[in-house]
Amino acid sequence: MTRSWILIVVGLSVPVATGLFVATTSAQQTIDVAALARDSRVRAALDLAQSGEADTIADQIRFCEVPAPPFKEAARGEVLRRAFVDLGLQNVRVDRAGNVLGDRPGAAARPRLVVAAHLDTVFPEDTNVKVTRQGALLKGPGIGDNCRGLGVLVAIIRSMNKAGVETPGLVTFVADVGEEGLGDLRGVKALFTETLKGQVDRFVSIDNGGIHVSVIGVGSHRYRITFKGPGGHSFADFGLPNPANALGRAVARIADLQVPNDPRTTFNVGRIGGGTSVNAIPSEAWMEVDMRSSSPAALAALDARVQQAVDKAAAEENARWGKTGLLTVTRELVGDRPAGRTSENAPIVATAMAAARALNLQAAFSESSSDANLPMSLNIPAITIGAGGRSINAHALDESFDSTDAWKGTQHGLLITIALAR
Ligand SMILES: [Zn+2]
Repeated sequence: MTRSWILIVVGLSVPVATGLFVATTSAQQTIDVAALARDSRVRAALDLAQSGEADTIADQIRFCEVPAPPFKEAARGEVLRRAFVDLGLQNVRVDRAGNVLGDRPGAAARPRLVVAAHLDTVFPEDTNVKVTRQGALLKGPGIGDNCRGLGVLVAIIRSMNKAGVETPGLVTFVADVGEEGLGDLRGVKALFTETLKGQVDRFVSIDNGGIHVSVIGVGSHRYRITFKGPGGHSFADFGLPNPANALGRAVARIADLQVPNDPRTTFNVGRIGGGTSVNAIPSEAWMEVDMRSSSPAALAALDARVQQAVDKAAAEENARWGKTGLLTVTRELVGDRPAGRTSENAPIVATAMAAARALNLQAAFSESSSDANLPMSLNIPAITIGAGGRSINAHALDESFDSTDAWKGTQHGLLITIALAR
């Protein structure tokens, strides 16, 4: 998940912080999760999730010590593929995008639940991924985000198998690629538009630590916008439209845009550049702009106003020098994460909250930018959950994970999986 996710969740996942969405009883619950948790095999699986936590942590460390930089997740993916095969999943496969899939059949092929954890990290290829351990504290890049999610993914399969849990529906477990920043959700995009197109009834992503249920997928659009002109000598060619001037006009207009607080909607001009010399009119000036919102409509509206600002800036710069169309602008969409949300009253959410209650866990609602954004945008019931324990400094080189009572997250993911596979 993205860095912003961490900031948001730190605020929202503490129940007292906002009082917004603390778990309450839900009238629309369709599955009696408490009764399910008392079923003898389910109980046995839950006990195994607790007693097997040392194995879960060993997997978490093992996965983490295989690098998975952006766009290069194949080595870690192979480790997960072998784990899926060893655990007896069926039809274990790697799709075109690099997602690793394995099926755990139920009595019927539908409904199909997908439980996913992302493979990729934000760290470049040469990062030292050795994990160190001091008591309950594990340290290593990616140890929480998302080696914890991968460890719990495998622990869920292992616990269900050992306890002989059978489900009415099919569960497809997925270790997916491209969740982080530049990956732009390419793993789940491929999953939902190609690999399992039209075949997913519900989706749970397990991402990072904590106990929470994320129902809001913050979307983002990112552009690289470039103003171009003929360029020339600062003195001899004075009078030509100047791309740097146009860029300045655009940034000023964007800076003055008003956006809603609710749904929270934001914009940022993050990088600017261009030109070759102080005494040359640039032939090019560019900026990178990031926009985010939890509302698809608000994000689309903001996007339109940013584009307008850019067009007006170009027109003004041309007009200032009495030109038409000499200065031009190009836009490259470099990031597109769809926004979406799952209603707090949706059965998938009620089930996740009921699972927390059945396990005596305090789960809070949260918002994130994660793999669940994509199915949410397609109106497929989807949530992202935490994998227990506590993640510290995700996306930083000194990332760590406090594994104290982390098995509670394993149990939560397990019970949600069993409850939704029907
Ligand atoms: Zn993540």
